[in-house]
Amino acid sequence: MKRLLLFLLLTTLSASSPALATPSVRVTLQVEPEAHTFTCRYRFTLPASDTTSVVLLNLNRRYKLQQVQAPRAVQQSVTRVAYSIDTLQQIQVRYGPNPRRSRYIELVYTGNIDEGNYTDHVNFLSAHSLWLPFRPYQEYEIVPYQLTVRVPPGYQVRSTRPPSRQQAGRYTFAGTTSAIELTALVARQFYQAASTTGPPITFIKTGAPLTATDSVMLRRAAAIVAYYNRTIGRQDTISHFTAFLPGTNSGGAYGLLDNATIIPYSNFNVAETEDLLILAHEISHKWWGYGSFHDETDWLNEAFATYSSLLYLQASGDEAGYQQELARLAQSTAGTPPLWGFDRYKYEYPMHRRVMYNKGTGILHALRTRIGTEQFLNILATSAAQKTSTNPGFVRLVEQVAGPETGAWLLAELKR
Ligand SMILES: [Zn+2]
Repeated sequence: MKRLLLFLLLTTLSASSPALATPSVRVTLQVEPEAHTFTCRYRFTLPASDTTSVVLLNLNRRYKLQQVQAPRAVQQSVTRVAYSIDTLQQIQVRYGPNPRRSRYIELVYTGNIDEGNYTDHVNFLSAHSLWLPFRPYQEYEIVPYQLTVRVPPGYQVRSTRPPSRQQAGRYTFAGTTSAIELTALVARQFYQAASTTGPPITFIKTGAPLTATDSVMLRRAAAIVAYYNRTIGRQDTISHFTAFLPGTNSGGAYGLLDNATIIPYSNFNVAETEDLLILAHEISHKWWGYGSFHDETDWLNEAFATYSSLLYLQASGDEAGYQQELARLAQSTAGTPPLWGFDRYKYEYPMHRRVMYNKGTGILHALRTRIGTEQFLNILATSAAQKTSTNPGFVRLVEQVAGPETGAWLLAELKR
């Protein structure tokens, strides 16, 4: 089943190469910061060239769906569906043949902001808040978006980029990112700092002013971005980057495709190797976000981000730390199933981490050892620029750059 879905997804992706053929998203979000609630008006528009006859949108089951509008649909329904390890509500809209015109589906829903996503100082909605609908297995579908956020007097809004329009209580952001990654932070006060060298790196914090530790982290982030722009990102460089420090202390840190990361820990300190590696890992997700976290292509996200962070650690002069971390990861991979064809839903989550993160990192290290750093970095930079999203696609790229023998070797490693 998953193979079929993946196949369908790949066919859709390859069929939708002209830029105009992608769907777009328009969101109006009203936040009530003191009650920690929101109302969302979400419009998903398919271009005229898209002839999809059935559109499915999955939505968090805890939200109250107030309205579904789908002009020119012949049928629409809302059901509960089992999805990955959860149950969601699914909006299904069916159209007659040959629509030939642009179509939209608009949902209005209300919900509570999860406890982990607010403090006394901030409410935030982003990828891991799961606040947006998405097409099944296409959470990371890339969509142009417009996000308008309305807040009560006295509140401000920040997102992964500056607003394109702003008036009292109303902020509009426009950009392109994955379907679930639109981001809004709402607070009475934000504390900000920006790097002074290289591409602008902005830290946005709530709850307390930036500390000396935060300033050290900001300088490190600038150094990491500069290193990546010379190596893995040299064909698609970072021109600006935002790190959010909401101080919610819940969930993990995560990267966003739109040149941003969320670091929720208030005691984060990059003087510790572990935290430095997290920061470098999350920044690198700017390039590593095109695999699917539902299947084995997740190593294209997670092993690549993990190995990128190790490349930075080594380049910063910490050879011992680099070796130590590689050895630590390698220890956890004995007896694990092959990466190729790995089905995460057949195992507990720790096994997913051991295979997708740790084993994958070992394979990248072995590939680099085999072909040398320069050729290896060429492969990573090309893969990043091409937004490789399949394992055969990555093996092909390795074959092209390093030759068929190395391609065959990699395939065997992935199947080992
Ligand atoms: Zn990651």
